[in-house]
Amino acid sequence: MEEQMKKWLEPFSTTDGKPSTLATMQEQVKEWIDQDKIDVFLGYKMVQGHPLPHFFTKSNLGEVDELISGQARYSLEKIATKIAAETPDIKIGLMVRDCNQRALNVLYVWNQLNPENVETIHLNCCPSKLKKHADCSYLEPEKAAVYKKKVGIDNNMDVEDAEAFNMEQRFQRWMYEFSKCIKCYGCRDICPVCFCKECSLEHPELIATGTLPPEIPIFHLVRAVHMGGRCIDCGLCEDACPVDIPLRLLYRKVNATVQDEFGYETGTHAGQSPFNLLGDEVTLEPKPL
Ligand code: SF4
Ligand code: SF4
Repeated sequence: MEEQMKKWLEPFSTTDGKPSTLATMQEQVKEWIDQDKIDVFLGYKMVQGHPLPHFFTKSNLGEVDELISGQARYSLEKIATKIAAETPDIKIGLMVRDCNQRALNVLYVWNQLNPENVETIHLNCCPSKLKKHADCSYLEPEKAAVYKKKVGIDNNMDVEDAEAFNMEQRFQRWMYEFSKCIKCYGCRDICPVCFCKECSLEHPELIATGTLPPEIPIFHLVRAVHMGGRCIDCGLCEDACPVDIPLRLLYRKVNATVQDEFGYETGTHAGQSPFNLLGDEVTLEPKPL
């Protein structure tokens, strides 16, 4: 255990300007739980050699000494959303990187979490390779193989590079990527901002069932449309996808359109979204054509 824990780096920033060490983070969590500021803290603990999400509460306070940080990335905020749906008044603490915070902002916008009931400890990481002390699985992107580069889409491409293909090539390349889909729903299940109780991807009238790959491109386009104004570019869907479809790039394109049309940068704040028709009255207007 000691050896395994050494591999996981200490956090680089914590709340309240306290010195940035793992011990400080653990102390902070204990203090919050002790003072009833939070009912549960969502973080990571090593279990049989793997860093896994773990609930720390008053009943297992001693385990906070085993709380770790590191490169593990799960949608802790998605877990928080599910807990809050069952127990709306629960106070939740969680460990957040930049991507988690963007997801939290979207979940606040969509009234899935109440910011009044959430405390966060920030870890320094994404989004840039250039950011000092960054600590994220995306710092070393996977390399695309020769065949994928020839007929598909390299997952490391920017939107502009992907758009350099002519329309016919673009269509063929994306269809190649979509044709690999095994409809495992991993992309949806891991996504921190997929929270609908009823999912269009499982609606037989929208997407025919009984074949693999799922009806393409509609399966992927339905999800892409739903990610407009929601996807915070964490890349977890792409991490989860067993067949390496460049989902992140697809949703980046969707959100570039949202930004162009509405000037809305998804996840950068917990204010209004042009698509959020729940709760507060929406006053955002599309830009004039
Ligand atoms: S990158 Fe994928 S997992 Fe992350 S928010 Fe966007 S769609 Fe969801
Ligand atoms: S994770 Fe990949 S294979 Fe699974 S449903 Fe999503 S796109 Fe298809």
